[in-house]
Amino acid sequence: PIPLLPVHLEQGYAQAVPELSLAWRAAPAPDPTLQVLNDDLAVEVGLDPAWLAGPDGLEFLLGQVPQSVPTVAQVYAGHQFGGYSPRLGDGRALLLGELLDTDGQRRDLHLKGSGRTPFARGGDGKAVLGPMLREYLMGEAMHALGIPTTRALSVVATGERVMREEGYLPGAVLCRVAASHLRVGTFQFAAANGGPDLVRRLADYAIARHYPAITTDAHGPDNLGDPGNPYLALLEAVAGAQAQLLAQWMSVGFIHGVMNTDNMTISGQTIDYGPCAFLDAYDPATVFSSIDHGGRYAYGNQPGIAQWNLARFAETLLPLLHPDPDTAVDRATDALSGFARRYDAAVTAILAAKLGLPEPESAAESESDADAVAAAGAVQPRALIADCLELLREQRVDFTGFFRALAAGTARDLFAEPTAFDAWAQRRAAMVVGEPVEVAAAMNRINPAYIPRNHRVEEALAAATDGDLALFERLLSAVRRPFDERADLADLAEPAPDDAPAHVTFC
Ligand code: AMP
Ligand code: MG
Ligand code: MG
Repeated sequence: PIPLLPVHLEQGYAQAVPELSLAWRAAPAPDPTLQVLNDDLAVEVGLDPAWLAGPDGLEFLLGQVPQSVPTVAQVYAGHQFGGYSPRLGDGRALLLGELLDTDGQRRDLHLKGSGRTPFARGGDGKAVLGPMLREYLMGEAMHALGIPTTRALSVVATGERVMREEGYLPGAVLCRVAASHLRVGTFQFAAANGGPDLVRRLADYAIARHYPAITTDAHGPDNLGDPGNPYLALLEAVAGAQAQLLAQWMSVGFIHGVMNTDNMTISGQTIDYGPCAFLDAYDPATVFSSIDHGGRYAYGNQPGIAQWNLARFAETLLPLLHPDPDTAVDRATDALSGFARRYDAAVTAILAAKLGLPEPESAAESESDADAVAAAGAVQPRALIADCLELLREQRVDFTGFFRALAAGTARDLFAEPTAFDAWAQRRAAMVVGEPVEVAAAMNRINPAYIPRNHRVEEALAAATDGDLALFERLLSAVRRPFDERADLADLAEPAPDDAPAHVTFC
């Protein structure tokens, strides 16, 4: 291990809830080589990119830190494809510690692929290069799209060959930065194993770290029924953060692929990029993951699944929501219906903007409100949005390409039967307000030209696995500036050819 760290790593989580992690060390790597380093992110978290790229930095990025730094593996539970697993955890991961970024925000530094831990179950504790580069690329793309996400700091190849279905593949360790690694599954483990006292300490920690506007001081076990219960406020805050996140996912055609409760954060960041992918042709039934046989995590199911996961979160908080169990359930149910309302408002607002329409009246939170707003003559883009999506689905139009083409005035060309589009476009034209050039410019600021298209990701990862990172770097440069069309990257904006085989992702 390196003798000294250039940053101070804290272990606030392990101290606040010691029951939920175990001291553990990273496995060494025989012949490490740095594959990618996120210079901007390094600077953001107070690390010197030049140091990280040197020999000591490489050891650091593999978790070879001084013995005095108590790294831990975290435990959690979770519903995986609907079935409950009582004991999951960092099976091949390690929390290096927390540091304060340049904004004073606490962030986790976490390794993936750093060796077996007591939570590894049957796994080998390893990760391979392709999927770690996929996580790096996807996180950067989402970040550039303005979507809350964990981000990768580095991928280091270990020099090991790791056995997978496809044969022996290069091993790798990813280092990622996250607002925290608190998951719905963390609360599930705490509720099942520690009871209300542990859940309360975990919730207090989550509030202090992610939702500090909620005050916990006045609430002891005896006044949970009072107004201003902080644990109800936490549930509402997490539901609100997830509603916003899901609206953003849906608006760019992102499919997470494994929305298990252990892969849903309390912070509202996207986490755990496994078999994720972006839609090409718009179809709510789209599934990419090889392990999602029933289509549980299909694109169009994601908001409903998020709400289902939040219901599992709410269950862990019930004893803290009210002393009377029936009242606690009523409170939780109200908070969960808040998710649906907020998701609907958020996704409608984003899609209206993507179509170049004025902001819908946000007051329309219920049916009767919506009627009142409509009667007052305010913009009601809901029907126009729904009809647009139905047209895209029927005619299998490329989702990302459509919005750019709409701004450019070339969307008609994307439809096999353009008369249906023409009728829709006339209705839209009647709703658009402002100079066409300005409306188009505003649309192009929020509708990406570049997303990590599956066929491009696949070719980049295949080349990287064979030792050539050029395609990966090129794709990364495109998705890091997704709104900025560049002639030399024009091919990366194109959808896969029609005759390309259906894409399948693996985790
Ligand atoms: P995921 O599907 O990536 O969310 O992972 C589910 C669980 O499996 C987590 O607890 C992981 O830590 C664990 N896991 C995944 N791959 C491995 C592996 N190769 N070795 C040990 N544990 C693993
Ligand atoms: Mg996971
Ligand atoms: Mg994973």
